[in-house]
Amino acid sequence: MRRITAVLLLITLVVLPGCSLADPVVVSREALGTVVSVTAYGEDESAVRAAIDDSFTVMAEIAGPLDAYTSGSDTAAFNRQPYTAGPLPPRAADILDEIEALEVGDAFSPTLFAVTRLYDFEGARTLPDTDDLALAVTASDRFVRQEDGTALFSRLMDTDVRLEPDGPLAPGLDLGGAAKGLALDAARESLRGSDAVTAALISSGSSTVTLGTKPDGGVWRIGIEDPRDLSRVLAVFSFEGDGALSTSGDYQRYFEVDGERYHHILDPTTGLPARGVRSLTIAGASLSGLDSDILSTALFVRGAHNALAYAAEHGAALMVVDAEGRTLVVPAPENSGVTVSEEAPETQ
Ligand code: AMP
Ligand code: MG
Repeated sequence: MRRITAVLLLITLVVLPGCSLADPVVVSREALGTVVSVTAYGEDESAVRAAIDDSFTVMAEIAGPLDAYTSGSDTAAFNRQPYTAGPLPPRAADILDEIEALEVGDAFSPTLFAVTRLYDFEGARTLPDTDDLALAVTASDRFVRQEDGTALFSRLMDTDVRLEPDGPLAPGLDLGGAAKGLALDAARESLRGSDAVTAALISSGSSTVTLGTKPDGGVWRIGIEDPRDLSRVLAVFSFEGDGALSTSGDYQRYFEVDGERYHHILDPTTGLPARGVRSLTIAGASLSGLDSDILSTALFVRGAHNALAYAAEHGAALMVVDAEGRTLVVPAPENSGVTVSEEAPETQ
């Protein structure tokens, strides 16, 4: 029980008072469209706090331009003229390159803006019309990167007004499945570059990166919640030093129609919520936050069986909760500095 409480303290973003040698400074703030928590160790508390402030600035600088849903962002500007070749938003090329490097382009699509918009998860939460969905999927799949660094969507022969740049099905970039991970990586590099910080953990809730080893030599512990009982910790991932972990789940953003759950992780080939997985967590010492963020979304789409195979082949730790509520785990390789321990359900 004490172990579980310790984990919960970590993930529920408790701000610890004061700072002795052994206590970290913990700062939680609204950022990246959620609450981000930075836990950092160092001897000079005010210098550690200044470094944490800087890391929040860096995160905003990375994520702001990549947010398709903020009208003033570079991504929104790109999406306003989808059929005209324009420069990619800052750092978008890094995300596109990494999707290719990880070989998950079949399951992770950075161009689902027209499709995700149809569900309106934050607003009306409506089921899309079948014909709209099919057209949005087709238009979204026509993204072209050009050698000069610009990109555009090629028009369909079909001149449907819904596809016009200001129409409801106009294609666009949606980098929301990867931008948080990229921002966490940048924050970690910012903290790494600070003389004041000796070790740190940065978490956006769904993604976490760690930096270095805690001063007492203890491991970083990250609790993974039960997708159907968020107060219960299902498993704990531990990192000895640098690492990254991301969870994608069908409980993070969803609505229900006729008893069916429509959640925000979409199969790019159909535009429908990916079925068969409730939550998927991937972690590794050699993964970046960007990698783990892309992979949690992509492997969720590919399904439990394929996800287990990918993790085993790539030496990553994985935990999947499938549609029947079964928990499946691929442990990290021995001596990789990452361990997964499943928590026994509480009996009282
Ligand atoms: P995550 O929470 O990291 O799993 O990312 C989910 C977000 O990524 C969604 O809210 C969408 O904006 C976007 N998204 C949904 N499905 C996909 C997909 N198959 N590939 C890439 N991005 C997606
Ligand atoms: Mg993701």
